[in-house]
Amino acid sequence: MTPGSAEKKWIVGVDLGGTNIVVGLVPIEGGEVLGLRSQSTDSVKGAKFVVDRIVRMVNAAIDEVTAAHGTTRDSVAGVGMGSPGPLDRKTGTVINTPNLGWRNFPLRDLVQNAVHLPCTLDNDANCATYGEWWLGAGRGVDNLVGLTLGTGIGGGIVLNGEIFHGCSDVAGEIGHMTIDSNGRRCKCGNYGCLEQYASGPAIAVRAVEGIEAGAESMLEDMVGGELDAITAATVYEATVRGDPYAAEVMKDTAKFLGAGVASIINILNPEMVVIAGGVTAAGDTLFEPLRAEVRRRAFKSAQECCRIVPAELPGTAGVVGAAGVFKMENYGSV
Ligand SMILES: [Zn+2]
Repeated sequence: MTPGSAEKKWIVGVDLGGTNIVVGLVPIEGGEVLGLRSQSTDSVKGAKFVVDRIVRMVNAAIDEVTAAHGTTRDSVAGVGMGSPGPLDRKTGTVINTPNLGWRNFPLRDLVQNAVHLPCTLDNDANCATYGEWWLGAGRGVDNLVGLTLGTGIGGGIVLNGEIFHGCSDVAGEIGHMTIDSNGRRCKCGNYGCLEQYASGPAIAVRAVEGIEAGAESMLEDMVGGELDAITAATVYEATVRGDPYAAEVMKDTAKFLGAGVASIINILNPEMVVIAGGVTAAGDTLFEPLRAEVRRRAFKSAQECCRIVPAELPGTAGVVGAAGVFKMENYGSV
């Protein structure tokens, strides 16, 4: 797709998640996201509702930014979208997303036809990783792996400045790396996936199991005895308040993650592993035992050249990366 003749200043980035849709304009040369907005996805209202909401948000963001800069819609090159997958980038189709309830849904073309701008589609975790590589923690690095710890664990791989997609766009599903062959059942159908140990809900589940088995912790009082109300954030808060049991749960989380990250480092030998998501608010409580576990497990020369760092674009990495994917696909580089 050839960009038009008018000078292009921005690319719209769309980060479609199971909970929220985030949209903003990213300067083609890189820089601060403009016209940033977020709305709930409300996927229960149906696919058409979600597409209409994306289209309205894209148009509103374009109108706001172009008006503020005294230019027109012609200065927008196109729209890069990130969506939960698996998906088919060539056809722009979301193959299956349990969170949104979509099957073989032609998301890219529906948005493209409604906004009358060229669109691209890639996996949301790939986009978040690419955003960190382009304008975040990974600036200037050639090879980088990204993990986003949230409701699940998303992953992305950037090799020599390009997202590595594999032969059917599945590459980078780091959350579904088996770390215990007889372990917990995962919603993907496998047993013992990393996601079942170190995602936000998994941290809460492990904390509750320990308390039910008799562990003493302030967590129980913090939720008024309602153990179901324990979340990863509660566990982290209890750790900060000096609860030894919560600290143990966080340390175990770091060990599980460390096992996964050590495998990634041995396989890909990247310069950087970027970790994003709410759990990273735990800071050194998470990163120190994580790095120690990686030191115990990975080849020395591989872990010595790899920095394990928190993400730098919380909330916007997906938008930035989706715009970066559009730029890469239409301009050949970012
Ligand atoms: Zn899995």
